[in-house]
Amino acid sequence: MSDAFYIQVILPLALRGAFTYRVHNEQVEEVAIGKRVVVPFGKRRYYAAIIYKLNVQPPRGASIKDISYVLDDVPVVTDIQLRFWEWIGFYYMSGMGAIMNAALPNAMKISSQTTVSLNPEFEEYEEFTDDERMVIAQLQSRDSMGVNQLEGLGTKRAIQRAVNQLLKKGVILITEELKAEVKPQTIEHIVLARDFASDETLAGLLEDLGNAPKQFECVMRYLGLQESGSMTLPIKKKQLTEGLGVSTSSITALIKKNVFESIQLLRYEGLNDDPGSFHLNDIQRAGLQKIKDSFQNKSVALLHGVTGSGKTLVYAQLIKENIEAGKQTLFLVPEIALTTQLVQRVKKLIGAEILVYHSRFSNKERLTTWLRLVDSLGSEVVIGARSSLFLPLNNLGLVIVDEEHEGSYKQHEVDPHYNARDAAIWLAKEVGAKVLLGSATPSVETYFNAKRGKFGFAEIQKRFDDIQMPLIRLVDMTKSKKADMMKASFSAELIEAMKANLARRKQIILFQNRRGFAPFMICEACGWSAECTNCDVNLTYHKFFEKMLCHYCGYSLKLPRHCPNCSSAKLSVRGFGTEKLEDELEILFPNARIARMDLDTTRKKNAFQNIITAFDEQLVDILVGTQMVTKGLDFHNVGLVGVMNADGLWNRPDFRAFERSYQLLTQVAGRAGRKNARGEVLIQTFKMDHQVLQFVINNSYLAMYEHQMAERQQFAYPPFARMIRFQFAHPDAKMTRDAAEFFAGEVRNYFKSGVLGPEEPSIPRIRGKYLRHLFLKIDPLSSMKEVRKLLWMCVDKAEGHPDHRKVRIQIDVDPY
Ligand code: ADP
Ligand code: ZN
Ligand code: ZN
Repeated sequence: MSDAFYIQVILPLALRGAFTYRVHNEQVEEVAIGKRVVVPFGKRRYYAAIIYKLNVQPPRGASIKDISYVLDDVPVVTDIQLRFWEWIGFYYMSGMGAIMNAALPNAMKISSQTTVSLNPEFEEYEEFTDDERMVIAQLQSRDSMGVNQLEGLGTKRAIQRAVNQLLKKGVILITEELKAEVKPQTIEHIVLARDFASDETLAGLLEDLGNAPKQFECVMRYLGLQESGSMTLPIKKKQLTEGLGVSTSSITALIKKNVFESIQLLRYEGLNDDPGSFHLNDIQRAGLQKIKDSFQNKSVALLHGVTGSGKTLVYAQLIKENIEAGKQTLFLVPEIALTTQLVQRVKKLIGAEILVYHSRFSNKERLTTWLRLVDSLGSEVVIGARSSLFLPLNNLGLVIVDEEHEGSYKQHEVDPHYNARDAAIWLAKEVGAKVLLGSATPSVETYFNAKRGKFGFAEIQKRFDDIQMPLIRLVDMTKSKKADMMKASFSAELIEAMKANLARRKQIILFQNRRGFAPFMICEACGWSAECTNCDVNLTYHKFFEKMLCHYCGYSLKLPRHCPNCSSAKLSVRGFGTEKLEDELEILFPNARIARMDLDTTRKKNAFQNIITAFDEQLVDILVGTQMVTKGLDFHNVGLVGVMNADGLWNRPDFRAFERSYQLLTQVAGRAGRKNARGEVLIQTFKMDHQVLQFVINNSYLAMYEHQMAERQQFAYPPFARMIRFQFAHPDAKMTRDAAEFFAGEVRNYFKSGVLGPEEPSIPRIRGKYLRHLFLKIDPLSSMKEVRKLLWMCVDKAEGHPDHRKVRIQIDVDPY
């Protein structure tokens, strides 16, 4: 048949290449680029794929399957997005399927393996088709079902369509999202019932309560918190109980009597910034103007502003103007954890709605945001982590990349290994939008680009309100140890400073760099220590779970009582992490209220937010944490930041270790004394004279930059070279080695210099697979197209080699 119609689709699978399907005559009208189409793949599986190209030549000799049907009435992926995916695929050397996986919210990626369940919050008032009703009825009797099980209910096509519609309506959910869902953060408030909100009824009530003195007291306290002329202003329950000592049981009793009502309010109240309008000071205004001027002829600008200089307000002003220009704003933040505090601040500053988009939101919420944007030409403001760059923004005017130096903009774990900051720059150029990169500690490459005039540049060297930069002091632990002045992990100086701050009711943040200091268990008799069976690492001791855990693969072991090697009972814990620190604090400061923020305590939904809220509301005196506490949080009462041990930060086998140490220490120091009074920072170290510490205590970014540039030039690291890393992985050590050697040989045919390795990485085996790395350094002036063409030839050859065909090759462009 010569007039058959073929299309190419993108499947959400980590496979390279495109997939061709045939379209029946009666379906040809329906297909369009960017719509989803359900296609069979393999045995009895189907996927929702994206239509990528129309009317293509079918590959010869292959047996081509028919599409099942077209899922969408209108395209859900736009032309701009597909061009963006193509660029990501080209630049980061990644397949389109992996990109689709990173880009689309899960709810758009239904397949026969997807399981769905009824949304417990759904109410029966919508109109449903018969098929939809049938699906609902089935799910009413079960917890969850696979889409493939449901298909038996009618024709496959009809059921799939019904499932898709119900997902869109939020009536059913993809099962995993039930676990991961994040609810908006609410706070319990107490409000006087309307019946009593007049002078007469209130007087009657107080009289009735005469014989219940505690409840009487409670109502009086509530009234005491009302503003004049009001009786029904909701009051935080906590304010009554913890603040004024009212007993919870009195409140409960009054709620039972219908005197009080308990209501949940979103936590938008009680924030730090003044609501509504704000005024930039002169320095901020000058910075803003420089940025705007540079946007006349450049698409990217860097705002280098010290911590607490008010970068957020400069962003807010630009966003406001962008909204007035009728354009969309994308505000990228490095960590989803950061969004809550920031969203609330920015929302107040710009006085407009903000769409939040990140992986901890439910599938339904993410789908809703996507569908809302896909046909919008409005002026929405979206805040999100790196994946929000993939949203269908058709009217983009401005991208803000906050804390642009942060490593979490890079997707490290899986393909595509994109960096959202760099990809945002490409995307903005493509659609004529502007990009503002902001940081107190810009990455060396970004600063380089600003210095040489590729990016616009503005600086704010002073903190807002003339608050001084924190006073940073080093504490010599060698001396402390010698003089026997250490109490557990704390030097006398640090304890002294903590006491002084607690006495002044100032809050304290303690930063523990857990990397390399994870506590592990060791047998004192024979030296045995628990290792992961799948990875070449020690298991980390977690007291709370009573387990030893592998941080790379999740393998866990119950705490042994006796050494499995020699049966000795002399097992002891070495190294120290946040958990141990928390224990020590409880002994040293028995009266302080302590909270811990790390991966363990923030795993649960809302946990991170709860800790931040508690700290923000000063219900916590000392916050102990890992890297998480270093990120751009804005607390107003922190008098002291302590770094437990700075050493080791810079000892990583990575050309950016020095730069990263500077950034981390400066950022964590920047949490101190942001408002009202100068803050203090103590850094404990055994290496008093390390160069990076000198740069940190003098707040000399520029000196750090120049130091690093000299080093990078000498050893040909970015920005003086581009880098690509190839990782080889296979359960067989020899096969991995052979594949890496073979590939290195191929690459050396084309690249005479700059091929480093292959070498064994610092952790040689992860999840049961042996690893080898090969690095390639490329002259930044060479053609990116040419380089990639040659590398793909090498990859194809290595992957086709009969001796080690099964070895997985992962490509990471800009692996840092
Ligand atoms: P950065 O992001 O540069 O570290 P922030 O934007 O968080 O700094 O500002 C630090 C603090 O100073 C915030 O609490 C912010 O509200 C306050 N601030 C900064 N500029 C102003 C201004 N022009 N008016 C009022 N408050 C400001
Ligand atoms: Zn032993
Ligand atoms: Zn492991």
